[in-house]
Amino acid sequence: MRPSAKGWCPGAYAPMTSGDGLIVRLRPRLSRLSLHQALDICDLAERHGTGVIEVTSKANLQLRGIKRDQYKDILDSLLALGLLDETAEIESRRNIIIAPDWEQGCLSQAIAKEFYERLPELPELPAKFSFALDVGKTRRLAAISSDIRIEQSENGAVLVCADSAEKGLTVAPSNAITAAIKLAHWFANTGGNDRKRMQAHLQTQILPDEWQTQARTSHDAPIAPGRSDIGFVLGVPLGQTDSKHLRQLLLSHTPNGIRLTPWRGLIFEGIYNITTPHFIINHTDTLLTVQACPGAPSCKSATVETRNLARALAGQTNGVLHVSGCSKGCAHPKAADITLVGENGQFSLIKKGCSWDNPSRRGLSAEEILNSTDVL
Ligand code: SF4
Repeated sequence: MRPSAKGWCPGAYAPMTSGDGLIVRLRPRLSRLSLHQALDICDLAERHGTGVIEVTSKANLQLRGIKRDQYKDILDSLLALGLLDETAEIESRRNIIIAPDWEQGCLSQAIAKEFYERLPELPELPAKFSFALDVGKTRRLAAISSDIRIEQSENGAVLVCADSAEKGLTVAPSNAITAAIKLAHWFANTGGNDRKRMQAHLQTQILPDEWQTQARTSHDAPIAPGRSDIGFVLGVPLGQTDSKHLRQLLLSHTPNGIRLTPWRGLIFEGIYNITTPHFIINHTDTLLTVQACPGAPSCKSATVETRNLARALAGQTNGVLHVSGCSKGCAHPKAADITLVGENGQFSLIKKGCSWDNPSRRGLSAEEILNSTDVL
């Protein structure tokens, strides 16, 4: 069973303490920053923190290592940039992942804007409970963790779906948010908050038939690094970059804006060719098969360094490799082909399992893993 991760998510109003200072998480509306906002964020990351910027699997942005005594300054700057919600409560409710290839005036944009206005109508929900807005022509977010999904069926109808249910409820687009809010109330009123996630709740609670009128499509097409219709997609290696590298690219290409993707990527709007050694620019890059959390010394729960080992092992294993600083498995809270978990300064090895499963080997050093041919 997964050890309890933190029961809340960091935000701008609710920074999380980590080994390298505070983590301040931003949830840009429509997962987009203007060029001006993106450049200012690079400045803020350097002025008040370590300059490390992360893109999360919820398409949020995190600034790491923010100095405690400068936290108020960063809040003031985010307010001036239009990146702060009116209240901490609204920020915590705005847990919405949007397929990043939306276009001006499209249905995704209209539904997202309505949802932002109606957030106060949601019941109290667990901190990690989220909504996926995936109504573009191509379904994008099927593999992204979320609890209530608004998506398209094969025939183009809009569906509101409980995560893991085989069918969803067909709605008129203008009723999608009303239905999603109603489904969130069903979850909360039937004890879902104790189970925390929709998928877990549906293991013990039967979803009423009224929510299951039409089959969902199994199609899924995540947006990979490289050229896309709306701009160039950069993968952020292990979800982490440096403000200097990002600023340099922003200034040399001057996109209108950048979009954050839940595959830990950035889309430079209207730019169709980028060459850089600091980001992933090709969908065949082996770094895309590796997951690693910040590890030591950034996270206090870690007893091992994770990212250098993950980079060194990229491409050396079959399938997905996950290097986790501890058994909580924040970077990849699901099964991987190979998982290396920090334990008392050394690594445990789990094959075809999660970071919290029983390891087949314990007490491995990073050198042993790198130099031995029979460990992985
Ligand atoms: S999995 Fe990594 S980031 Fe998460 S608590 Fe453990 S060491 Fe920290």
